[in-house]
Amino acid sequence: MKASSFDFVRPSSIQETTEILAQHQGDARVLAGGQSLGPMLNLRLVRPSAVVDISALDELKTVEVSPSEISIGALVTHGALELSKEAGATFDLLRKVAGGIAYRGVRNRGTMGGSVAHADPAADWLSCLLALDASVGIAGPSGARRLPIGEFLIGSFTVALEPGEFLTHLHIPALSATARWGYYKHNRKVGEFAEAIGCFIDDQARGMRRIVAGALSSPPVLLFAAAGGWPQQMAIDEIRAAVREAAPAVEGAQVHFHAAAVMRALQGGARP
Ligand SMILES: Cc1cc2nc3c(=O)[nH]c(=O)nc-3n(C[C@H](O)[C@H](O)[C@H](O)COP(=O)(O)OP(=O)(O)OC[C@H]3O[C@@H](n4cnc5c(N)ncnc54)[C@H](O)[C@@H]3O)c2cc1C
Repeated sequence: MKASSFDFVRPSSIQETTEILAQHQGDARVLAGGQSLGPMLNLRLVRPSAVVDISALDELKTVEVSPSEISIGALVTHGALELSKEAGATFDLLRKVAGGIAYRGVRNRGTMGGSVAHADPAADWLSCLLALDASVGIAGPSGARRLPIGEFLIGSFTVALEPGEFLTHLHIPALSATARWGYYKHNRKVGEFAEAIGCFIDDQARGMRRIVAGALSSPPVLLFAAAGGWPQQMAIDEIRAAVREAAPAVEGAQVHFHAAAVMRALQGGARP
């Protein structure tokens, strides 16, 4: 099958992009890496009036690092993050997650911004970025704004973008040198989407402790968030109870399946 017809535009600035998106009143689609949009167009799962190719926006291809925050442009690819030479716990985690996404060919083109805007609940970045307490940078007709990723992800394949808006950056708190983290992705075959994800951050210097379960039928959920600690050894029963409470739609054996992924992340946590 072929895509239905659409206008193709390639704006050269963020402002021009928001103007074009606003003209189409929510009926245009941004094209980033095209790894999800391409198949959706060909299968006619989406029939936008216009495809807005943002690949000319070089300012969205950079990674800026400050002592407190890492700012990742929406067009930075999974492959670029996988091969990043930046030091520090945050980049160690980003490299681990990026390297487990799909196959090299997909990683070369797929972008972090595209993955977050697409909001497939099984996408790796969603769980990782929720655990990192990241926020999403958004540009729109009335200027720029930021939203915590937990508020940006409002449902499966549904995000809090208004007509005319698009995602420009992911802002991630820089973890301290002594931070611990763990990420576990359960999938049947290397390169496939996750069936369950567990991710934790334990950064005592920043007072940041978060545990996330992902690859549910809805966006990832925060199981624990505390400035203080959690017991060093969490029992599987406690994790199961937290999954039930945070994701009531998960039932039966699936509760244990997701709790086990979280347990694996906690057990495999990286130490400085
Ligand atoms: C074979 C295969 C295996 C995969 N396996 C995995 C996996 O294991 N884990 C995983 O996490 N992902 C996986 N993916 C998805 C991959 O990570 C894609 O890169 C990602 O879903 C979309 O990123 P993209 O840059 O290609 O976005 P696109 O395909 O260009 O866009 C996807 C959607 O997001 C919108 N969009 C894109 N960028 C923006 C923006 N900046 N602002 C607003 N809207 C935007 C588009 O309009 C479109 O609706 C896989 C994909 C394939 C094809």
